[in-house]
Amino acid sequence: MMRIVLFGPPGAGKGTQAQRIAAAYGIPHISTGDMLRQAVAAKSELGRQVEEILERGHLVPDEMIGRVIAERIAEPDAAAGFLLDGFPRTVPQVAILQRALGEKRLDRVVMLVVPDAVVEARILGRAQAGEGGAVRADDRIETIRERLRVYREQTEPGAQVYREQGLLAEVDGTGNIDQVFGLVAGLLGGARA
Ligand code: ADP
Repeated sequence: MMRIVLFGPPGAGKGTQAQRIAAAYGIPHISTGDMLRQAVAAKSELGRQVEEILERGHLVPDEMIGRVIAERIAEPDAAAGFLLDGFPRTVPQVAILQRALGEKRLDRVVMLVVPDAVVEARILGRAQAGEGGAVRADDRIETIRERLRVYREQTEPGAQVYREQGLLAEVDGTGNIDQVFGLVAGLLGGARA
């Protein structure tokens, strides 16, 4: 049983690490970014509401994403734990998550620490390489800077709440995928595989 939250700026390699952690611990990887992009692709009601917000690199309203996440963590596969990637992203979302968890507690909050210059270089590389042909609409340089600004301004204060609770562990995210995963696994301990 593991309930983990993963923080990190855009381009920190959060999605990649999240998949590896989820596989190693046998828990679902819940990415709000992926869920919102799927909603946009499916042209659902939610997708239509968030499409423009995503393209600008802004955050969708807390209550809206709060409903999405509350429903998701209530699903049976999340009963044995989960890894949250991209949520919570603001101080109010930290409270929304706590309410959705009820009596349950998070086990660990991990933050991948990567300087802005490294993040910008990585995302530009990803946009140019076109990652499997799919260039994300929010991977343009202006949008990256906006997402970084939003991360520093709104998401880091959310992480601070967990730091004060003694739940937050910071990991150097500048190494390669295996190195960073090694650090995270060492921290979490007891991987299943
Ligand atoms: P990143 O590459 O910045 O980690 P994500 O894939 O996690 O991006 O999210 C992409 C976009 O989806 C964000 O820029 C934001 O518009 C929206 N989003 C994802 N999660 C949240 C959230 N918890 N609250 C508000 N907006 C969110």
